[in-house]
Amino acid sequence: MKPVAYLLAILLGLLGIVFVGGSQGSPLRIVVGIVFFAAAGALVWLARMQPAQTTHTIVQKIDLSGDVNLQDLTCKSCGASLSRKSISVAAGAVLVNCEFCGASYQLEEEPKW
Ligand SMILES: [Zn+2]
Repeated sequence: MKPVAYLLAILLGLLGIVFVGGSQGSPLRIVVGIVFFAAAGALVWLARMQPAQTTHTIVQKIDLSGDVNLQDLTCKSCGASLSRKSISVAAGAVLVNCEFCGASYQLEEEPKW
């Protein structure tokens, strides 16, 4: 989504240059060119606003999948099924503390999720 927004911004900027550059003193074309520049600026601004929202969504997804897939989780050290008290969520990361073998590690996102 982001590269598309920047590409559109560049295109709008180029259109703005064409209109202002080829205005030949016509005020209407200068105004249209300025509108294109403003649209290009707004697109870049929107594209820069996006990363914060994306990070937020990813954190929420990790929390959710940690709860949903809890019954299928097994310790990667000893293979025992892990119960809810073996799992803790800290700062968006799922931490496993196996109650059977004492293994402690951070759960990484797996393809089956
Ligand atoms: Zn274990």
